[in-house]
Amino acid sequence: TVTAEITDDSDALRVLRRVFGYDAFRGDQQEIIEHVVDGGDALVLMPTGGGKSLCYQIPALVRPGVGIVISPLIALMQDQVDALRALGVRAGFLNSTQDMDERRMVEAEFLAGELDLLYLAPERLRVDATLRLLDRGKISLFAIDEAHCVAQWGHDFRPDYLALSALHERWPDVPRIALTATATEATHGEIAGRLSLQGARHFVASFDRPNIQYRIAPKNDPKRQLLELLRTEHDGDAGVVYCLSRKGVEDTAAFLAQNGIDAVPYHAGLDARTRAANQSRFLREDGVVVVATIAFGMGIDKPDVRFVAHLDLPKSVEGYYQETGRAGRDGLPSTAWLAYGLQDVVQQRKMIDGSEGDEAHRRKLGAHLDAMLALCETVECRRIQLLAYFGQQSTACGNCDTCLTPPTTWDGTVAAQKFLSAVLRLARERRQKFGAGQIIDILLGKKTAKVIQHDHDGLTVFGIGTELSVAEWRGVVRQLLAQGLLAVEGDYGTLVLTDASAEVLGKQRQVLLRREPEKPGRAAKSSSK
Ligand code: ADP
Ligand code: ZN
Repeated sequence: TVTAEITDDSDALRVLRRVFGYDAFRGDQQEIIEHVVDGGDALVLMPTGGGKSLCYQIPALVRPGVGIVISPLIALMQDQVDALRALGVRAGFLNSTQDMDERRMVEAEFLAGELDLLYLAPERLRVDATLRLLDRGKISLFAIDEAHCVAQWGHDFRPDYLALSALHERWPDVPRIALTATATEATHGEIAGRLSLQGARHFVASFDRPNIQYRIAPKNDPKRQLLELLRTEHDGDAGVVYCLSRKGVEDTAAFLAQNGIDAVPYHAGLDARTRAANQSRFLREDGVVVVATIAFGMGIDKPDVRFVAHLDLPKSVEGYYQETGRAGRDGLPSTAWLAYGLQDVVQQRKMIDGSEGDEAHRRKLGAHLDAMLALCETVECRRIQLLAYFGQQSTACGNCDTCLTPPTTWDGTVAAQKFLSAVLRLARERRQKFGAGQIIDILLGKKTAKVIQHDHDGLTVFGIGTELSVAEWRGVVRQLLAQGLLAVEGDYGTLVLTDASAEVLGKQRQVLLRREPEKPGRAAKSSSK
């Protein structure tokens, strides 16, 4: 009968339809929601745009009490709460941006049982008053968003997250659901351990984003390369361009604007009003390009971002995946484009060497960078590599640059030997440190002022590498670095040999290198200094 059919619908499905206005669950949503509604703990790994929010919002509405959501994204809490309130969900938040009165009001609502969802910044839980407040209300569940922030091995560790292990001790009967859009197998295990979620059910969605086309290009003249990409493939499209520094953001935004692209800058150094205005233009208008530092984008839900471009190398594969994941949430074809060069490696090594923290921390940063370099220099399908990094197997995708224009490999053993011997020769000149540019000039037999000044034209390696171009030599250096056959040291990007270099110099090891496929329209000029 009709009544039977209606009661067949679970409470969860009814909430999905009535409150959120969607017809059906996606992927694992239903299973996750039912598990949490029944009081089970869950660890959810789902890519950006997968629909994580409903996985805790619906159980919070179905279970009696208030769902507590821990999120580091303080800047977005107001928006999230406003969006929920617009749907008729009773939501509130507590964070450092509020004054006393606002806080008191939310606390009163919580105690009166007038909230379905309460968003909390993690640092709130270090305050005893907050814990006592929670004791006095009824909690339906804890949702720990961006759960990878608890993993010290991950790329986005936040010390405040460590305190979240206390939730389980203090409220052992309240179900917990931890969610993240990025976790390698190692961080995955660390999240479960640190949050005492060993007994939780794990839900791991595929991390593949088939509509995103991954492309990684050697960096020649990055702003021009980007402009070319926008003009030929993304005319009038909305997109995000990531730069490492605020200055890079400013320069790139100005350059694009001068060239007729509707581009606005976004970084933490801009005043709050400009930032908010630029973000809101990006969200509300069509075809706005935001040029930003990675401060931009966490939690931004714009479905039709058609491209994400990186003009500087991301610090980790996880970061790269998360940032590129902001493209194409609507499922339509989108581009993830990255320009990467030797200078990126030098710069990031320098930052790692100069970073705060102990040796183990620097080793971690180094390992993250190495994985990123390996992705850049692979001759395999980018997607296979990317998914393998997250512990997921796949087959060649046909929708990345290496699938579409396969690079060939060449035997670079002799070139590597030439380069490494030059490094060795220069290392003997203890007083002076030289970077890649000088070594390439020497191999090419260029009598530059700096070559003559240091008598480098008298070295036995002078002029022995004319078979390759500057760009090709730079490719060799990048790949030697990526393969650990060469290392960068110190402030000036001095190249030094590694233990593995000796095997190449001693002719015990073959070096296979990637040859960049020729692409029409690509700038041929190298920007080497
Ligand atoms: P995530 O947090 O995993 O990045 P969100 O929870 O923000 O993803 O969801 C991404 C988008 O998908 C949102 O616009 C959301 O409303 C929508 N969405 C989520 N679940 C469904 C569903 N079952 N049906 C239709 N749209 C959904
Ligand atoms: Zn591929």
